[in-house]
Amino acid sequence: MVLRDFFIYLSENKLLNSAAQKYGLKMGAQSVVAGTSLPEVVQSIKELNKANISCTVDNLGEFVYEKSEATAAKNNILAVVQAIHDEQLDAHISLKPSQLGLDIDYAFCYENLKEIVELAYQYNIFVNFDMENYERLHSSFELLEELHKEFDNVGTVIQAYFFESEENIEKYKNFRLRIVKGAYKEPENVAYQSKGDIDRNYLKLIEYHLLHGKFTSIATHDHNVINHVKQFVKQHNIPNDKFEFQMLYGFRKEMQLDLAREGYNFCTYLPFGNDWYGYFMRRLAERPQNVALVTKQVFNKNTNLAIGIGAAAFALGRLSKKRK
Ligand SMILES: Cc1cc2nc3c(=O)[nH]c(=O)nc-3n(C[C@H](O)[C@H](O)[C@H](O)COP(=O)(O)OP(=O)(O)OC[C@H]3O[C@@H](n4cnc5c(N)ncnc54)[C@H](O)[C@@H]3O)c2cc1C
Repeated sequence: MVLRDFFIYLSENKLLNSAAQKYGLKMGAQSVVAGTSLPEVVQSIKELNKANISCTVDNLGEFVYEKSEATAAKNNILAVVQAIHDEQLDAHISLKPSQLGLDIDYAFCYENLKEIVELAYQYNIFVNFDMENYERLHSSFELLEELHKEFDNVGTVIQAYFFESEENIEKYKNFRLRIVKGAYKEPENVAYQSKGDIDRNYLKLIEYHLLHGKFTSIATHDHNVINHVKQFVKQHNIPNDKFEFQMLYGFRKEMQLDLAREGYNFCTYLPFGNDWYGYFMRRLAERPQNVALVTKQVFNKNTNLAIGIGAAAFALGRLSKKRK
């Protein structure tokens, strides 16, 4: 738990995030981020498409507090939508409302989102609103609802660790939903804390949406969940075109290919861009073994400084909390 808290702490640190952007893809991030430029990501999508894997593309971006940064993010995402259309790729968009200005001004964020959703709608491309932390949950749902009045190519994510997700899955059953366990650190008054509770709720939500909802994306690397879903859809005669499995780029690559070969719809979440630090630290928080993926690169002289400074600040933070 301490290690998870440590990496989540790093993921939320704007200073380390900015420092990391200067280094390019390092600290092992290149194993889980599909490049820094659009041509690189287009190439990765083409390769995955050849293996019958579709993609959801995330133009990485967090800590957006200036309108100019949100506008730049919007333009980058519009370019991805255009590339998906021009190159006829089997891919859609994943975006974070905070990247488009949610923390600056709701109406400004809405206009940015609308521009993206509208272009994607013209090209019949789906846009997923990734879900961030609890503070942004309700405003993200609100944005989604407003846009859904005009465009049906939008959907979102339900995070199983929130108590309210059972209500939300019912409320949003007519949306295409991605269902996940949840990646952020949330307080005890809003979210389950134990793995057992989260896993139980996760299966419950998946089953509900498979039976009652629109299209379901089951986004997990957990083989137990995947095996459970395979049995469940068989028992309930749920056709393959009602759901897909999703995993993050770079994780369980063989299993991704196997699921596609078995005939299941499979979609890889493809993050790209310079702003990889927060995304990468959350991946390390989820699974300490992921650290092993990158240890070689972490301990090089250029980049261990960022983690080292973070570790010291984190330790000091814990110490001062204990003293209070
Ligand atoms: C496509 C996608 C999109 C996501 N979008 C969001 C989002 O919008 N918002 C959000 O909050 N979260 C999101 N997440 C993150 C998600 O909430 C979880 O934090 C993350 O997926 C880790 O949980 P898990 O279900 O993969 O399994 P875990 O609970 O991490 O792992 C369960 C078990 O699976 C096995 N396992 C897991 N990973 C591996 C591996 N790499 N190799 C071998 N075995 C492994 C291990 O046995 C492990 O004990 C997303 C995840 C995915 C895959």
